[in-house]
Amino acid sequence: MRIEDEIKLTFDDVLIRPKRSTLVSRSEVDLTRDFKFKYTPKTWSGVPIISANMDTTGTFETAKSLEKFGILTALHKFYNIKDWEENLDFLNPKYLIVTVGSSEEEFEKAKKILNLNNDLDFICLDVANGYREDFLQSVTKFREAFPEKIIMAGNVATREMTEAIILAGADIVKVGIGPGSVCTTRKVAGVGYPQLSSISECADAAHGLGGHVISDGGCKFPGDVAKAFGAGSDFVMLGGMFAGHTESGGDLITDDNGQMFKDFYGMSSELAQQRYYGDLAEHRASEGKKVRLKYKGSIDITVQSILGGVRSACSYVGAKNLKDLPKCTTFIRVTQTTNEIFTTYEN
Ligand code: 5GP
Repeated sequence: MRIEDEIKLTFDDVLIRPKRSTLVSRSEVDLTRDFKFKYTPKTWSGVPIISANMDTTGTFETAKSLEKFGILTALHKFYNIKDWEENLDFLNPKYLIVTVGSSEEEFEKAKKILNLNNDLDFICLDVANGYREDFLQSVTKFREAFPEKIIMAGNVATREMTEAIILAGADIVKVGIGPGSVCTTRKVAGVGYPQLSSISECADAAHGLGGHVISDGGCKFPGDVAKAFGAGSDFVMLGGMFAGHTESGGDLITDDNGQMFKDFYGMSSELAQQRYYGDLAEHRASEGKKVRLKYKGSIDITVQSILGGVRSACSYVGAKNLKDLPKCTTFIRVTQTTNEIFTTYEN
């Protein structure tokens, strides 16, 4: 046994230190960033926030609303080709990410979806555990088959695997093991890595190789999104913050008092597994839970508050744009021990 006893931090453990700034107003802050990537010659310009590839947040309806802000949506992998055919004409492909798993079947499906529109540039190769050796082979296979596409792959949480995934052919590595709002991996498997430290270490590793990272999971407030960018993340993926809206998947539920709700659940929760795979395989434990969120109305309001929050963070530290935010960010640690509090285990 070995223990690494350096304290690792998450969003709640830090605050961004205010600094003297020449910015007069937060409206001067530009949240649109221009990207070049390690492998593909393609470039992308937009607001590097992504709605998560969950069936409640990675929906075509969400994409329709987010594209006007220049925000990306990672469509969930349970849409079939027909769903894509029916919806693609109404959407801007520049802001869509095609999510697939690592199987041969998913590879074939990716080819078909990408053939529908040449301007679909992003592929997200998404598995729960990016540490499997065969995952690296999948990344290489996708890179060879799609040399022009922007490939994101994950999830991992540490430096060495970030490097391995980039060297295998990914432009962007998705970072986050266990921070998700409806994820129970840390309780069920005891596995995880505090997200802020994970971002900063993985970003350092990725940037050294010309790659990028997405911080995936754990943002509960606009300030957390700012902290994720400040820690060095190039993109930030949001599930819970984008769930519970009109555009989100799931039925609107009204209780006896007239209060409205929407359910939000992990993609490896028993509910999601039953829905898409018939049942939870015997050798697997559910690593996600379901929560009932108060209905939040239009997603536009949430987007405005996220963008406003990040702009405000930039103006507090003197960053004129997102790319400058990590350079201008100093975090102050505000807790004695890491704040990833584990509540009672509920099966
Ligand atoms: P959130 O923004 O809600 O905190 O986190 C969203 C992220 O949680 C997703 O993008 C995905 O990486 C992760 N996630 C979604 N469902 C599950 C699940 O059932 N189990 C685990 N371990 N992670 C999940």
